[in-house]
Amino acid sequence: MSSTIAFIGLGHMGGPMAANLVGAGHRVTGYDLVPELLATAAESGVRAAASAKEAVTDADVVVTMLPAGRHVLSLYRDGGLLAAAGPGTLFVDCSTIDVADARAAHEAVTAAGHRALDAPVSGGVVGAEAATLTFMAGGDAADFARAEPLLLAMGKKAVHCGSAGAGQAAKICNNMILGISMVAVSEAFVLGESLGLTHQALYDVASTASGQCWSLTTNCPVPGPVPGSPANRDYAPGFAAPLMAKDLGLAANAARAGGVDAELGIRAARLFAEFAEGEGAGQDFSGIIRAIRQRSTPSTPSTLSTPQNGSTA
Ligand code: NAD
Repeated sequence: MSSTIAFIGLGHMGGPMAANLVGAGHRVTGYDLVPELLATAAESGVRAAASAKEAVTDADVVVTMLPAGRHVLSLYRDGGLLAAAGPGTLFVDCSTIDVADARAAHEAVTAAGHRALDAPVSGGVVGAEAATLTFMAGGDAADFARAEPLLLAMGKKAVHCGSAGAGQAAKICNNMILGISMVAVSEAFVLGESLGLTHQALYDVASTASGQCWSLTTNCPVPGPVPGSPANRDYAPGFAAPLMAKDLGLAANAARAGGVDAELGIRAARLFAEFAEGEGAGQDFSGIIRAIRQRSTPSTPSTLSTPQNGSTA
């Protein structure tokens, strides 16, 4: 069934997502503060609105893809979107935002007589372009069922994670695993270097042993073992370090607020924040290995001549 959709935020992610909704036969009206992005979206069939309010007036569904929670909340409230939309409009926020902000957004939307779903994504710009994103959603089951066909027009999988904020919760928990595991894999490669171990040897072992993870086998932080990983193109993103720093910051805040002893998650948030503010600003998050290497004290690699017997975990 074709829907009338307002799409607010036509940046790196929102632009191609809106285009995929048009491609699936929906009527999409878009708005972004940047006129050039609006013009690019129009080339793929998105009708350009003069304001966010104008975009939502005749929409069944409003999709937002904005930088942070404050943008979503201020558009909903001060920007007048909730007042401008028809009764019972479904607001689907796909931005990655704080769990508390997501719950506040749900409250504001439902108090205004509308329906709400938080539905952040995993898969990056490549996934947005190819419509292979994974959506993780929070809200009522009926609202998820209503949104699911639209989510699947922009992605390959949509998981209903629970009530309001559960999608954001799943997103930041997943990315906390990812951030910690990238630091772990990077530290292991730098340790291996200091022990005279080749990258390929460590990769061949860990990728088929208990150290196996996405940070190693898909986004390997050293060039060579995984030809498609960003390390092979001088750490061009990929998943940019500032976005990882943002997601880990959200996870660390949630851990602190909930009294969770997430020592490694909070440490990883600090490491990526420092990296993203400095040389990592334009790099893939796997470039963190360079910062780890720089902070390490160089010494002569030891020679590993005799393979050691030992058990594996
Ligand atoms: P982006 O900065 O490219 O796009 C955000 C857009 O929102 C911008 O074009 C901006 O002009 C627009 N915007 C801001 N305030 C607005 C307003 N009041 N009205 C209209 N438009 C407004 O960011 P992005 O990379 O597309 O990311 C969007 C969201 O998706 C973020 O929350 C990010 O964390 C999340 N995300 C990004 C990626 C990725 O790889 N880029 C992956 C997963 C999730």
